[in-house]
Amino acid sequence: MGDVKLPNGVMSKAVTIESDGEMRLWEGIEPPKVETKEDFIKAVRASGLVGLGGAGFPTHIKLNFPADKNIDTLIINAAECEPYITVDYRECMENSWDILSSVYTLKDILGFKRVVIAAEDNKPEAFKVLKNIADHKDDVDDEVQLMILESKYPQGAEKMMVQSATGRRVPPGKLPADVGCVVLNVTSAAFIARYLKTGKPLVSRSLTVDGSAIANPKNVRVPIGTNISDIIDFCGGFKTEPCKILTGGPMMGLAIVGTDLPVLKQNNAILAFSKDDAVLKPETDCIRCGRCAIACPMSLMPTNIVRAAKAKDPEALKQLGITVCMECGSCAFACPAGKPLVQHMRLAKAILREEGNK
Ligand code: SF4
Ligand code: SF4
Repeated sequence: MGDVKLPNGVMSKAVTIESDGEMRLWEGIEPPKVETKEDFIKAVRASGLVGLGGAGFPTHIKLNFPADKNIDTLIINAAECEPYITVDYRECMENSWDILSSVYTLKDILGFKRVVIAAEDNKPEAFKVLKNIADHKDDVDDEVQLMILESKYPQGAEKMMVQSATGRRVPPGKLPADVGCVVLNVTSAAFIARYLKTGKPLVSRSLTVDGSAIANPKNVRVPIGTNISDIIDFCGGFKTEPCKILTGGPMMGLAIVGTDLPVLKQNNAILAFSKDDAVLKPETDCIRCGRCAIACPMSLMPTNIVRAAKAKDPEALKQLGITVCMECGSCAFACPAGKPLVQHMRLAKAILREEGNK
């Protein structure tokens, strides 16, 4: 046991495992016995599964919804959460049987009336695979449907996904469960099927290694805890000096200082960009063009939020709906003045939190 620095800079206790190089399954591992919903939730918890789409939220909590929530719809989220990342696409192409098995298991055990498999229209090959799952012979009442959504960031975000797939709008401060939906990432779903078959917990994951500074971009499957520098070496190292390295996507990913850090369960990508792709636009005055408001998927007014945050006005921030901001970065991306709007949004949330703690 020792102290290890995580990609977000936090120090954590960690056990270092020395590999014997064999990658054998321990003989004590066996598939869980699952007959009831309770058994299933217990098994998902024991598997160590968290949202593999990047959120890292414990899946057993998400699936253990109370009966009075009237959850009727499971949405399998096959829309990649951010540009560059292609792990969910590869999961669809390579592990379609696991996805199929999981869809029907989840539907039967948790009693969903309807399952929507949602994918974006820029992945026609995945579409064919998912269509076979939705059209499976076991789905006699056509309760499993495939929905093709416009390929548009942040389509993969949970609240966006609920609205696109069901037309239901998640109110501010509420969760998809409050409108009768559970959203599960497609790779997480596939993992559940594998765990139920083998009992092998979440000890590895796939991730995309990409960006202009990476010599041979590819998707890799690595044990959780693998050193990021080893993964980059496996991908040919850097072909040019990296100016910015991220865990996660280019919009919401976390910039890291150095690569001597372990991969975590929720890391779905490692991206490294050269100077040309990573230099920020110089910041200039706001020209009141409104592009940030047009770009915001949650219909917020970023400029008004910035003003309220600068005035440290928590009441105004609440009224402007800062709590629904998902820090997607669309406003900052659209801003011609190079305003660091996401940082302002985070600051605004911190002001509200501080007010709540008084
Ligand atoms: S980061 Fe910007 S675009 Fe995204 S939800 Fe927040 S305000 Fe809207
Ligand atoms: S996009 Fe940028 S320049 Fe335009 S109104 Fe918003 S903050 Fe101002």
